[in-house]
Amino acid sequence: MWNSRKVGILGGGQLGRMLVESCNRLNIQANVLDAENSPAKQISFHDGHVTGSFKEREAVRQLAKSCDVMTAEIEHVDTYALEEVASQVQVEPSWQAIRTIQNKFNQKEHLRKYGIPMADHRELVKNTPEELAEAGEQLGYPMMLKSKTMAYDGRGNFRVNSKEDIPDALEALKDRPLYVEKWAYFKMELAVMVIKTKDEVLSYPTVETVQEDSICKLVYAPARNVSDKINEEAQALARKAVAAFEGKGAFGVEMFLLEDNSLMLCEIASRIHNSGHYTIEGCGLSQFDSHIRAIMDLPIPAKSLEIRQPSIMLNIIGGSAPDTHLKAAEAALSIPNAAIHLYSKGAAKPGRKMGHITVTAATMHEAETIIQPLIDVVDNIRA
Ligand code: ATP
Ligand code: MG
Ligand code: MG
Repeated sequence: MWNSRKVGILGGGQLGRMLVESCNRLNIQANVLDAENSPAKQISFHDGHVTGSFKEREAVRQLAKSCDVMTAEIEHVDTYALEEVASQVQVEPSWQAIRTIQNKFNQKEHLRKYGIPMADHRELVKNTPEELAEAGEQLGYPMMLKSKTMAYDGRGNFRVNSKEDIPDALEALKDRPLYVEKWAYFKMELAVMVIKTKDEVLSYPTVETVQEDSICKLVYAPARNVSDKINEEAQALARKAVAAFEGKGAFGVEMFLLEDNSLMLCEIASRIHNSGHYTIEGCGLSQFDSHIRAIMDLPIPAKSLEIRQPSIMLNIIGGSAPDTHLKAAEAALSIPNAAIHLYSKGAAKPGRKMGHITVTAATMHEAETIIQPLIDVVDNIRA
């Protein structure tokens, strides 16, 4: 049967949970590898889950035994474990793609061969002040010092404004493998969700992302005040970048729109992505639906990736009290066309993604008007 193959998911956080929601609607069993009672496991009752971490070799082996196709909600997984099990189980996207992408420097070196425009950058080998100062001479200030690995939500980035910041920057990212990027003077950040199938590279429309403290706060779909031409160019760039990797599934591509309307790639995630959450309400198929279909070789009508109604997604980030996210969700209960997603992660921690809200409306202006009171609530929570 088309839906009888079992999916194994490395990671049971909110992204895994939303993948399980998609699997559930198609009667596809999703076996999740994560801690007991992780958000994804809470909505999936069967005996195929594995308790452990996606960083433990033995746990990955166990998951491989219980599924037909394995995927990951996060790129920071043990790709050596994936390489080992790839002979027994289909791994999507490929372990090679995940391994290259999880190291942001290697990702960029790989993409450079395909002519993808990116901020100029330098690798640090010794992580000394002299080495960083030399990069500063070449790239100019400000520049962004970045950890090559284990980066998310800007935890791994440090803005170096001048030579005087060098000691602080190296202290903040000490003991991590580093590279440094030339500053990108962007007027807007854009993102495109790309779906790689067995024989096609499809894309959702271009969206606008707004980050606060390097964490995604808002996503406007489609991107506001962006011409059709730029929308098309961003999608084409995203598809070209993703085509450089092996394997199937969803990839999130972040880009900068520069002052002269040219595009630059910021980074790729080898997975479903926060910038694509709007697709749950905004499109015929969500990024999670498309990911599952892509890895199982099921049809994805391109029309289902179009935006049906302008959508705005607002992240609910944890504040100082453990229940701040519930206040945001409670306010959203009374807002028309506000879809509330709480991730059931337990108590909030500052900066932790606890849920999101998507508002859809006939026009972007209407969606902006409807969501504004919620943005105010979220801003107060974080203040
Ligand atoms: P994510 O949670 O998206 O995985 P991350 O920790 O991997 O984030 P990046 O996406 O590399 O980090 O950077 C986070 C944000 O920092 C970007 O969205 C952008 O706002 C800013 N940024 C990153 N690189 C640069 C740059 N070269 N110039 C200016 N701003 C930058
Ligand atoms: Mg990243
Ligand atoms: Mg990013």
